[in-house]
Amino acid sequence: MTAWRRPLAHFYGFISSGGLTSLANSRYDLAVIGSGPGGYVAAIRATQLKMRVAVVEREEVGGVCLNWGCIPSKALLNSAETIESIRGAGKEHGIEVGEVKVDFARVIKRSREAADKLSKGVRFLFRKNKIDLFEANGSIAGPNSVALGQAAGKPAPAAQAIEAERILVASGSGERLFGGMKVGDGVMTSREALLNDHLPESVVVIGAGAVGLEFAYFYQAFGAKVTVVELEKQMLPGFDAEIAEELRRSFVRRGVTVMLGHGYKSMERKGGRWTVTLDAAGTAKTVDAEAVLVAVGRSPLSPNLGLEKVGVELDRGGFIKVDDSFRTACPSVYAIGDVIRPPLLAHKASAEGIAAVEIMAGVREPGFDLMSIAGCIYCEPEVATVGLTEAQARERGIEVKVGKIPFRAIGKAVAVNQTEGFVKIVASKEYSEVLGAQIIGHRATDLISEIVLGRTLETTTAEIGKTPHPHPTLSEAIMEAALAAEGEAINF
Ligand SMILES: Cc1cc2nc3c(=O)[nH]c(=O)nc-3n(C[C@H](O)[C@H](O)[C@H](O)COP(=O)(O)OP(=O)(O)OC[C@H]3O[C@@H](n4cnc5c(N)ncnc54)[C@H](O)[C@@H]3O)c2cc1C
Repeated sequence: MTAWRRPLAHFYGFISSGGLTSLANSRYDLAVIGSGPGGYVAAIRATQLKMRVAVVEREEVGGVCLNWGCIPSKALLNSAETIESIRGAGKEHGIEVGEVKVDFARVIKRSREAADKLSKGVRFLFRKNKIDLFEANGSIAGPNSVALGQAAGKPAPAAQAIEAERILVASGSGERLFGGMKVGDGVMTSREALLNDHLPESVVVIGAGAVGLEFAYFYQAFGAKVTVVELEKQMLPGFDAEIAEELRRSFVRRGVTVMLGHGYKSMERKGGRWTVTLDAAGTAKTVDAEAVLVAVGRSPLSPNLGLEKVGVELDRGGFIKVDDSFRTACPSVYAIGDVIRPPLLAHKASAEGIAAVEIMAGVREPGFDLMSIAGCIYCEPEVATVGLTEAQARERGIEVKVGKIPFRAIGKAVAVNQTEGFVKIVASKEYSEVLGAQIIGHRATDLISEIVLGRTLETTTAEIGKTPHPHPTLSEAIMEAALAAEGEAINF
């Protein structure tokens, strides 16, 4: 219990921008800047650890994940999967479907409704956990002080500053554009695309990372002509090359044009359309489309936070530097989530948030295993990876064995007509310890959790292979791949 804690203040409960005068001078154990999956989860865990917590948020509660990322984009992908299965119904199931009409505005509206519902849910959790929410623009005024400024579109905050023993920066990341680019007239980042209720006839997607590919799949499923442009020689740069190639082939089969090894140079508006000029090893090429989606990564939101006032250091990419305890160069200031390092993922932000406050409370040792963070892409087929790829393990001098099983060998995959893709498990040759897995296929993002848990438990391919998996399920592909690594696959 810190000297600053005033448990009675919990009775103030939830506070929005109004009615804060009574708290203007009170002190918190923890002030969190940002209410994304990093900040809000850390705040709740901190109250469980008996801290008195304030959260400062300048936009919608829930951050990018709930409002502009994971949730609305997955709602759109669910609509895409639905229209794909309706279109395929006649061919595959013998069910005749009449003309399919799309109300694209409704598709977008449904995704906004999902986002709003979950944002409201986080407000409820703040009330339930007696977390004070300050809807304001927060910046660090001193090692124990967060200044509150008026946020765009919000009323002036009732307090000018809050004091706290510790400050946790969870300000996340923002969309990135190339120099000279401006959104508007069909040029979108993911944020504009999530609001755009006009289905473009054609789209150039710049960037074949997770966000670019999810939107490419979405627009293609709704009938737009989609071209994906990527500077690197493979889709999903940094992922297992075999998985990336399998996904490229699947996209091409669906009718997406994929231009790898093509760098963006410039774009020009002509006759209400965009001509995008690309560089392919010195040769200029152009692609023409009604809309352009720019998905070239995100930048940490570290500027304008007052970090320099307390000596917080940044790395070259603008990410906040932290130690094993998520502590910055200023001992009372901590940071987590997108603002500290890749991978920019919601579950990484949440896990770091929990770890940071548990370390602050002294109930956990410093350290965090980034290798247990799964990377998932939710297009169809889905992609999910965790831990080391075969190539990464070999680069580290580890002798490995690899078990690989295609979904076409799995009964459930055949029954539900989802035979694209495969599961690959990488294990150490000496101990059979699971080092990583890469999955491409239907529901890959759900299947990967078995391997994530397996890594936490330091499990072996022999143990997974001997665990009876329910039949018929797609999870049998994990069991079979583990058996394959042992040279004991039954169904392939
Ligand atoms: C289109 C898209 C799809 C995605 N899909 C997935 C997915 O499927 N799975 C996944 O794991 N990840 C996904 N992500 C990434 C995921 O959204 C982020 O990794 C995650 O939101 C990061 O969480 P965070 O808490 O670090 O920051 P954020 O979610 O960015 O939250 C930071 C919050 O801080 C607030 N803030 C910033 N500065 C201030 C300030 N000065 N004062 C007050 N408030 C401030 C912001 O308004 C924001 O609400 C996706 C991202 C995008 C763009």
